[in-house]
Amino acid sequence: MLNLVLFGPPGAGKGTQSQKLIEHYGLIHLSTGDLLRGEISQGTELGLEAKKLMDEGLLVPDAVVIGMISNKLDANKNAKGFIFDGFPRTVAQASALDDLLKSKKSAISGMIALEVNDDELEHRLLLRGKDSGRSDDANPEVIRKRIKEYNEKTAPVAGFYKDQNKFKSINGIGTIDEISAGIDAVVTSY
Ligand code: ADP
Repeated sequence: MLNLVLFGPPGAGKGTQSQKLIEHYGLIHLSTGDLLRGEISQGTELGLEAKKLMDEGLLVPDAVVIGMISNKLDANKNAKGFIFDGFPRTVAQASALDDLLKSKKSAISGMIALEVNDDELEHRLLLRGKDSGRSDDANPEVIRKRIKEYNEKTAPVAGFYKDQNKFKSINGIGTIDEISAGIDAVVTSY
């Protein structure tokens, strides 16, 4: 199986590059942000709880997102592999993901990090907020909170994969195709 973790701060381009990876490798895309927004639009209890945190730019509890990922892994038993987008976002999530994959006799192939500076991120998210309809993209204060959560809780996840020799970083500034070519070069090496 080819199991990729696409990593980077909010606005780094993970969603855009996930679409490219789906086209190139036929992987199943698992975005915890999309799964949570799905729960919100269906008005589930989980969605209602998650929305409060997401609107403040805070992370949703580990147990909630780990449970959602576990369900999706079970529901796609014959997949060629997965792209994890926006997950794992804490070291506890990364460790839980290793355990889940191990129980399926699989593992993460590698993490690919998209590097983009904070000023560019804020600019991209505000632009996206104008037409995405995502309330968390429209408010500069919430954007800064998300970047702060990322730096405090999510950035250390890179170290988790560096320790396993599974970390590669790519410049996330450039055209979509340039960045996609950089990612493909890494994936081909797996
Ligand atoms: P972005 O990466 O642009 O912030 P996402 O769609 O990945 O967008 O996430 C939106 C929000 O959903 C996050 O700010 C957070 O509140 C919540 N969320 C998504 N994935 C996770 C996760 N793995 N752990 C905790 N919270 C998450």
